Amino acid sequence: MSFTELNLTPEILRAIADQGYTDPTPIQTQAIPHILEGRDIMGAAQTGTGKTASFTLPMLNLLQSGANTSASPARHPIRTLILVPTRELAIQVHESVKTYGKYLPLRYAAVYGGVDMEPQTRELRAGVEILVATPGRLLDHVQQKAINLSKVEILILDEADRMLDMGFLPDIKRILALLPSQRQSLMFSATFSDEIKKLAGKLLREPVLVEV
Ligand code: AMP
Repeated sequence: MSFTELNLTPEILRAIADQGYTDPTPIQTQAIPHILEGRDIMGAAQTGTGKTASFTLPMLNLLQSGANTSASPARHPIRTLILVPTRELAIQVHESVKTYGKYLPLRYAAVYGGVDMEPQTRELRAGVEILVATPGRLLDHVQQKAINLSKVEILILDEADRMLDMGFLPDIKRILALLPSQRQSLMFSATFSDEIKKLAGKLLREPVLVEV
């Protein structure tokens, strides 16, 4: 199968072509159609399988279909929240959003610990539609009232097993309480412990299981 069969917008297909990719990887072939239909996903995939694009491409496509072109920050609520366990992964996922979204008028940012909050706060105040975040730093910004999560349409949890290993469950629960219950949720994990299944039960609604 080729990317052109996946019902992605011309802008996204062009960004994929710029990367030199011709065919979707198995996780992309399986996950993208379900995500475009609005389904929740439980994805079992390791790094290196193309998992980042498997959620980034359809997420951008969904946001583009309802793109908001106003310049006012108030009109740029966070519509997608991508939670990741580490700063390295936050930077990597942010790069992917940038790469695949380069022809789209969407704004995005990444917030993670270990660096000054101030530059991140400025970016947030200017308005972003897609936010990549580590849980602790996200909650710091919430506490400072730099972030409003009440308009989130899509929640993505990447490397959920690592997040639990790192003790982020209480933070994740706090964040979930700030999100609209009416939303699309995607969760990716390399392993499937009972804790992961329990979290999936809390987070996902009739998820499609995608395994590679
Ligand atoms: P990931 O599993 O998301 O860490 O992606 C692994 C690597 O595969 C990254 O360097 C991506 O840029 C690359 N990649 C993702 N999708 C494709 C594709 N369809 N064809 C070729 N390379 C890809």
